[in-house]
Amino acid sequence: MLKPSDKALVPFVSVDNMMALVNYIGLEKFIIELATEIEADFKRWLLFDKTPRVASHSNVGVIELMPTSDGEIYGFKYVNGHPKNTKEGLQTVTAFGLLADVQTGYPKILSEMTMLTALRTAATSALVAKYLAPRNSNIMAMIGNGAQSEFQCIAFKAICGIDKVRLFDTDKYATEKAFLNLSNYELEVVKCKSSQEAILNADIITTCTADKQLATILTDNMVGTGIHINAIGGDCPGKTELHKDILLRSKIFVEYPPQTRVEGEIQQLEKDHPVTEIWQVMTGKSDGRTDDSQITLFDSVGFAIEDFSALKFILRKIQNTNFHEQLDMLADPDDPKDLFGMFSRANI
Ligand code: NAD
Repeated sequence: MLKPSDKALVPFVSVDNMMALVNYIGLEKFIIELATEIEADFKRWLLFDKTPRVASHSNVGVIELMPTSDGEIYGFKYVNGHPKNTKEGLQTVTAFGLLADVQTGYPKILSEMTMLTALRTAATSALVAKYLAPRNSNIMAMIGNGAQSEFQCIAFKAICGIDKVRLFDTDKYATEKAFLNLSNYELEVVKCKSSQEAILNADIITTCTADKQLATILTDNMVGTGIHINAIGGDCPGKTELHKDILLRSKIFVEYPPQTRVEGEIQQLEKDHPVTEIWQVMTGKSDGRTDDSQITLFDSVGFAIEDFSALKFILRKIQNTNFHEQLDMLADPDDPKDLFGMFSRANI
């Protein structure tokens, strides 16, 4: 068997290695550092090649490719969203992704991204809330207590200083699971019996439910003023979480309008309804929250640059560590034009 040369080997981060790396760094520190990486890339937003993700819909879910490039590095994520999966013992969301060198097209890293998506979504949510949430926010309602939920709660603790979370899910076992999982994170955790109960006194409301329909997790009369809503579950055409009237009362912030207008909560609004791109708030080009009584809404659908930043961060963190394997993923003939010769010799 031919031994591949180093230039043909691609570092691969498995789920096991991702978990080991995050534990080695420490979950909260990891999320804080990842948020810093995402913020730095959002601040150079205009440099990136941007496109709405390429989605293939079926009546049970969606499979998507999310590409971007900063001119030096190209990245993409493969991700699915299948709300029915948990009933079959499968995840709603799974993902993997890759970064490549724009100069050669050669991959630089291949990684699991199911864990990393939960981490980057949590880091992005809390980073955005740092700019938009009411001052001194300390209580968050967490509606939808599935796979993403604990990561969200811990990110808001680490980045925004949240110390109380109020959980609600239509599946009480999901709430029980989140309650137990969060018991070691110095958070006061309260189990609630309804969305209405969960949002009581909350400064921030995170909605993270999965259902392929125009759902109404929050109605207009439930939501008071002076609150930040982090709506992350509605991320597909025909899949939303908030009543339209809440949107009409909110100052709305998005990642990338061409994608969010199709996939986000704002698919319920006119195509020209004003929204602010969150990178503009981060660079000081636009205002964030301008008064204490405002409702700010982050209509999050997840954008390719967040995954790009996350993979770049992981690539840096695995240098000189064992938190990866080397994949023989690229053909590497001695004579680059003699691919067939390499094939023939492999058969001897
Ligand atoms: P999950 O299936 O593990 O959890 C979803 C939870 O929502 C379940 O426990 C379910 O019982 C609960 N739920 C459904 N309807 C509800 C309702 N009406 N009220 C209260 N709870 C309800 O899914 P997950 O991996 O946690 O993902 C949640 C959602 O977030 C998905 O729609 C996913 O596509 C989306 N997501 C968005 C981003 C982003 O960047 N914006 C990233 C990852 C996932």
